[in-house]
Amino acid sequence: MSDYEAIKTEIVKTRKHHWCHCCLETFPKGVKMQKQTLVGDGSISDIYVCESCQNILSEHLIEIENNEGEIEEGAVREWKLETQESEK
Ligand SMILES: [Zn+2]
Repeated sequence: MSDYEAIKTEIVKTRKHHWCHCCLETFPKGVKMQKQTLVGDGSISDIYVCESCQNILSEHLIEIENNEGEIEEGAVREWKLETQESEK
């Protein structure tokens, strides 16, 4: 995972349903999501990030990224669970 690099980041209107890399929710087609094209390990893959995760990431990136500065799958979902627990 650490060898992946985002070569392209764009906002797209999805043409089919995609799940968000950060919160693992599935979003229907026709919504705006951030699409990141990642290259690494000899392959190219696309990940999608929903608008709400983009907002959370822009404010809490330091808390959410791992030690290598990467956003792991489900990282925002886990961050939300942790924040909710600490508020109890
Ligand atoms: Zn999301």
